[in-house]
Amino acid sequence: MSVQLSSRLQVIQPSATMAMTQKAQELRDQGVDVISFSAGEPDFDTPAHIIDGAKQALDTGETRYTAAAGTTALKRAVAAQSEEVRGVFCSSDQVIICAGAKHVLYNFFMAVLNPGDEVIIPVPSWVSYPDQVLLAGGVPVLVQTTQAQNWVLSPDALENAVTANTRVLLLNSPSNPTGGLIPKAEMTAIVEKALSLGLLVISDEIYRDLVYDGNTFVSALESVSDRQDQIFTVDGVSKTYAMTGWRIGWGIGAPEIVSAMTKIQGQSISCPCAVSQAAALVAVTRPLDYFADWKAAYLKRRNQLVKALNDIPGVTCPSPQGAFYAFPEVSGLIQKLGVAKTDIDFASWLLQEAHIAVVPGTPFGAPGHIRFAYATSLDAISVGMERMAAACRRLPAE
Ligand code: PMP
Ligand code: GLU
Repeated sequence: MSVQLSSRLQVIQPSATMAMTQKAQELRDQGVDVISFSAGEPDFDTPAHIIDGAKQALDTGETRYTAAAGTTALKRAVAAQSEEVRGVFCSSDQVIICAGAKHVLYNFFMAVLNPGDEVIIPVPSWVSYPDQVLLAGGVPVLVQTTQAQNWVLSPDALENAVTANTRVLLLNSPSNPTGGLIPKAEMTAIVEKALSLGLLVISDEIYRDLVYDGNTFVSALESVSDRQDQIFTVDGVSKTYAMTGWRIGWGIGAPEIVSAMTKIQGQSISCPCAVSQAAALVAVTRPLDYFADWKAAYLKRRNQLVKALNDIPGVTCPSPQGAFYAFPEVSGLIQKLGVAKTDIDFASWLLQEAHIAVVPGTPFGAPGHIRFAYATSLDAISVGMERMAAACRRLPAE
């Protein structure tokens, strides 16, 4: 007898990034030497002082439930850090701590969307946004951006996509998967346009510290001086502090939204993990002494990867300005695989033929592309790219 499941499952897909990471791990478990460019997570270990802070918290009994929205100490620290980063004051009742930035996004959509409400998502975008909107009963409206525009949504394109049902605009700079960055003038123009159209703006700023080549990160919040209560910021510990497994993220915005999310959180997970919150407090309150080295390492890896990709005939890969992803266009190679083949087939082929794991572009809303996460060693990049180049040489000539 089959088990009947909720119809809500029919509208969503499994996370493509998590699925590819799992597939690479399964092959490794079978003894295959897979080089993974699929998981978007730092390969660095959580810094020792943060781990020590967690150990101390365990020893001093931080092992119980905390307030649903997180500890006062962490909320205060997050508010202070946000003011430092974004130059805009926020109080601790504007902060909610959740089980990762992904969970912040989920709680936000659950808190603000009614059935049929539309959320504008510029694509390419991270795979989880549309599915989270669907889970909350909303309608994701994907608006295409192009490489030629540096993947930045124009105010006109936004206005054209708005209907009577549009409630939210989602922004993500630096971007997963493109590594694209929204410059200050463009950020101001797009946020002003969204606010003038009466939209809420949710800005996922989880990659804010990973910006290269002299570019600067600009938050949605600092880009305008009015109606900042209509802007909701998402951030967390996964990237800057290499703390993906600790599952701590936060949202900063209007107290009404924060309390609505807190109500949902109190009825779903009770509160985020106490010891992880204690570790996150150490993370956000101590200097980022280690981070310049990490950033330099990412930059070297990016440069090596992008060069190796562009050396393969049929691959075009502009140098991404932020995050730790490269997002090459590979249509020419996909065609060589056969008619009607897609980037999804190409990613499977790379896994089989070259034993390298990448994520196909289609789940990000960008067919013809594949995503490489370069949060891996220079050696892995060098061997992985040799394997890819060799496999591509075996494809038939055009
Ligand atoms: N937003 C973006 C754009 C991401 O790439 C990720 C990485 N998984 C997240 C949010 C979620 O991060 P986490 O849940 O680990 O805090
Ligand atoms: N953000 C990462 C990625 O895009 C982690 C996996 C996920 O949560 O999607 O690969």
